[in-house]
Amino acid sequence: MLTFDTPLSAIPSIKKPMLGKLACLEILTVHDLLYHFPHRYEDYSQIRPINSLAPDEKCTVLGTVVKIEAGRTWKKKMLLTEAMVEDASGRLRLIWFNQRFISQTLKSGMLIRVSGKVTKDQKGLLMSNPAFEKSARDATHTGRLVPVYPETTGLTSKFFRWQITNVFQKVKEFPDPIPEEILERLHLPSLKQALGYIHFPKNEKFSLLARKRFAFDEMFLVQLKALQVKALFKTAKGEPILFDQDALKNFLSTLPFTLTNAQRKAGFEILKDMEKMQPMNRLLNGDVGSGKTIVAALAAYAAAERGLQTAILAPTEVLARQHFENLSKLFPQTGHTLALLTGSYRVLDNKTVTRPTLLKAITAGIPKIIIGTHALLENDITFDNLALVVVDEQHRFGVAQRAKLQEVSLKSKDNIPKAVPHFLTMTATPIPRTLTLAFFGNLDLSLLDEMPKNRKPIITKIVSTDQERETIYSFVRNEIAKGRQTFIIFPLVEESLALKDVKAAITEHKRLEEKNFSDLRIGLLHGKMKPKEKEEMMAEFKNKKYDILVATAVVEVGIDVPNASIIIIEEAERFGLAQLHQFRGRVGRAAHQSYCFLLPGKPSHITNERLRTLAETNNGFKIAEADLALRGPGAFLGTRQSGLPDIAMENLLNIKLITIARDEAKLLLALDYKLTKHPLLKSALQKFEEQIHFE
Ligand code: ADP
Ligand code: MG
Repeated sequence: MLTFDTPLSAIPSIKKPMLGKLACLEILTVHDLLYHFPHRYEDYSQIRPINSLAPDEKCTVLGTVVKIEAGRTWKKKMLLTEAMVEDASGRLRLIWFNQRFISQTLKSGMLIRVSGKVTKDQKGLLMSNPAFEKSARDATHTGRLVPVYPETTGLTSKFFRWQITNVFQKVKEFPDPIPEEILERLHLPSLKQALGYIHFPKNEKFSLLARKRFAFDEMFLVQLKALQVKALFKTAKGEPILFDQDALKNFLSTLPFTLTNAQRKAGFEILKDMEKMQPMNRLLNGDVGSGKTIVAALAAYAAAERGLQTAILAPTEVLARQHFENLSKLFPQTGHTLALLTGSYRVLDNKTVTRPTLLKAITAGIPKIIIGTHALLENDITFDNLALVVVDEQHRFGVAQRAKLQEVSLKSKDNIPKAVPHFLTMTATPIPRTLTLAFFGNLDLSLLDEMPKNRKPIITKIVSTDQERETIYSFVRNEIAKGRQTFIIFPLVEESLALKDVKAAITEHKRLEEKNFSDLRIGLLHGKMKPKEKEEMMAEFKNKKYDILVATAVVEVGIDVPNASIIIIEEAERFGLAQLHQFRGRVGRAAHQSYCFLLPGKPSHITNERLRTLAETNNGFKIAEADLALRGPGAFLGTRQSGLPDIAMENLLNIKLITIARDEAKLLLALDYKLTKHPLLKSALQKFEEQIHFE
């Protein structure tokens, strides 16, 4: 008898070479194997009389083998096995290519079920490479909804069907982590039932019910964890940072603009939150250009006024430096010292210093606001009294780095853990509500759903003909004559294509320089340049040394060149909508009317439909919703980083499921916060945690 924990190596029918392949899929135990779910089914449940078949149908026939022979095709010399099955209504030809074992297993007179797709050649109807099994056998590969599993080389669906059927029958117990009463309340099947339904569904209804149950399981675990983390933060000791309203007003009056209502509200929520004994754990969710930086600056200011330090983390050197420059402009009247620490910059109070000098100063509490990249996370950095951690564009940080951030938070002078710092993360792209609930359920939310008033909406156009392209180029020329600048973006979608894209950018840069804009100054920025070179190019573009910047996707993140009024995006269809919206956010950052031109590489109706969403609205939240609906949460968030399993991913859009899971999780935790009464659930949660990282 088997249990969930039995290693697959203890199962004789699974041979050694298979174990290695299974291990590559992280399938090591009976539990893992049973949780390897089919991603679709072939419906072979109908057994049909042979004389009723028609080409292109997928179905099963039940008949007797009347002929079997193996030979070679005369053209390609492939091994060819041909057989004939017969039922009361007629005969059907079956052929297999290069499957040596067929002629050894299949014998004349055998009663078999055969499932496959019916095709037709000169000699009539046939099935090529069908699945078959003896009719006396239980239906595994034929005659049912046949599961199709995610495969890798050497592990076929057939293998999984066979092994899972075999293993499932021998498992003694199916310990169910979800409390029975919850399953009853929600009319969900037990674990044993659900596993049966997903691998051996009688019909589609059953497989859907099983998926519903597993989706609930995962979302329930997500929510349990999120609520636990949230509660943990509430019990942790933070440093209350009381804010002085008058000083704050004073600070605000030095700004060159007045805050939007949304900024005011978010700022107030954050400041109020930081006054609490419990550390803040909050997401500032806002569109590109909605003015998140100043909101973070307010929080940092409040901390600095109490003599406490803030660390502000940006995903790239360019951005860190930009934050440093912007914040340096905001803070001079306050008397607080700022520092910048990245791989290539160490700046203290506007002076370049050595790394040891800067670290010493940080430990002594001299700079109150320390801006940096992940270089700020190095082990030898000790803060004096870190009270606030701000992470800009958090999704750009890898999982490991994010984990490290929280760890860093807990470190302080003499390595004695002090109060847990307040934590504020900011998004680069607005995150739709369903996702925040499902994915950031442990965070409190502040929303910037309003743009500063001085903005003119960016005019966005889809450009599909060469003639229009020429018009755009002369328009660019005009704008440049007025003193404006232009970005031209080339796609860099996948790392593996990076080189090709860089080439495209380089070639295009040359073409534009020689042909279209030979009298203009054109800069080039791409991912294969050294950080320093990128940095210099950005700075030079910002200082108007170039009229046009040809760039790959490296400009996506937060770069601020207020004088740029046009962005042209080549092969726009290769980007997601949210990302395109990010690019577009590179312009329109000052009072000039700005323009975004989308140039699809291969114009098509569908592409244009998709891009039209972008042309029709400047509302980042709406675009994010559309992007999410089009590409799914995996692509939207970047599956790799999220680490969520597939079923949970599919269901991140299912707000009803999320709400139910959250309510059930709340109910359960209210009675049994540590899950001591639910040990199975507790260990399931632990396992789950190893797969997922939470903010
Ligand atoms: P993001 O939310 O994309 O990080 P930023 O904080 O970089 O946006 O702000 C974008 C630009 O808008 C900056 O140049 C900033 O100075 C300016 N800005 C921010 N808030 C306001 C406001 N209330 N009124 C006018 N301009 C603002
Ligand atoms: Mg920003």
